Amino acid sequence: MKYNKNNIFAKILRGEISCKKVYENKYVLAFYDINPKKKIHVLVIPKGEYVDLDHFHQEATEQEIIEFNKSITHIVKILKIKDGYRTISNIGQNGEQEVAHLHFHIFAGEKIGRIVS
Ligand code: AMP
Repeated sequence: MKYNKNNIFAKILRGEISCKKVYENKYVLAFYDINPKKKIHVLVIPKGEYVDLDHFHQEATEQEIIEFNKSITHIVKILKIKDGYRTISNIGQNGEQEVAHLHFHIFAGEKIGRIVS
């Protein structure tokens, strides 16, 4: 899968665009969504160049995959989310993915409802 280094999250990772950081380690970066859909809306991205979840699972190392998954729980703790949350990852055209760098949305802080649009 072809990764385009000009996507906005790649620019955030290179420090060319700022973000409101929640957490960072060797493998992941988490930051607040610029256009929050819920009271808490955070994005979690791997530092590696992966277009989406399928690309990630095809090409990432086991360690990258484990660290990315585990980071969600760690970030939820940092955000002091107590009453539950939702994670989603939009993939491709029908998934209405806007930014072609893998990201998980974390929605929390209020009732999320059955569908997030
Ligand atoms: P998706 O539709 O799943 O690709 O979601 C992309 C998300 O990135 C949207 O919720 C946008 O509000 C968010 N977004 C776009 N640009 C930025 C930015 N510079 N900083 C933080 N979030 C952003």
